[in-house]
Amino acid sequence: MSADSKIDESTRLQYLQAMGIEVWVPRQQDADCSENVSQDMDEQQTESVQHCHEDNWAELTHQVAACQNCTLCETRTQTVFGTGNRQADWMLIGEAPGQNEDLEGEPFVGKAGQLLTEMIRALGLSREQVFIANILKCRPPGNRDPKAEEVAACSGYLQRQIALVRPKIILAVGRVAAQNLLNTQQPLAKLRGIVHKLDNTPLIVIYHPAYLLRSLLEKRKAWDDLQFAMSIYEELEK
Ligand code: URA
Repeated sequence: MSADSKIDESTRLQYLQAMGIEVWVPRQQDADCSENVSQDMDEQQTESVQHCHEDNWAELTHQVAACQNCTLCETRTQTVFGTGNRQADWMLIGEAPGQNEDLEGEPFVGKAGQLLTEMIRALGLSREQVFIANILKCRPPGNRDPKAEEVAACSGYLQRQIALVRPKIILAVGRVAAQNLLNTQQPLAKLRGIVHKLDNTPLIVIYHPAYLLRSLLEKRKAWDDLQFAMSIYEELEK
């Protein structure tokens, strides 16, 4: 390839994404910042890295809000970027916005959202301490499952969110999120209770709160999953 025909990294990622090829950005490498704040840095270096992070968040937020990568942009009220602590140890990833989220612009705000808040509390955390995002940033009409092409069109945004937050542990909330993040068709029953890895970050699969609202009998297992996730996190902290 000649020097002029070389493409930059972000264009390369966009091409691969358009071809439906998933490219996960390694955890240590922020989407665009080459460095992360470390103890060896002086004040000026720290500040410049922090500005770089802020710029990346601002750019990503803007790109998501204006996104037209798939046809869901035609039916959404607004995009749902994600909320919470941008330096959280815990990142929770759900499926896609539902009707309430589409109207309010925040993830997990309906009844299922209230239960998710309780589940987060059961971990001894608040919603403000974790970062919550979805596989899709737009609501699929009628809350149907996301289509593969929609996931492919949206996956770059989530990858960049993960690279910026750099969580210590990820919770995949429900079957659809788990299957897409882990690129598997295995049922949820086979995916829970195991430590998976997403680019070296431990990932635990938990029940979706909407499912728990329908199947009260599974609440005990949901509690077990949260306890399991906490035990893995505590191991990391040792
Ligand atoms: N279900 C999800 O998976 N995500 C939301 O944001 C709301 C409901």
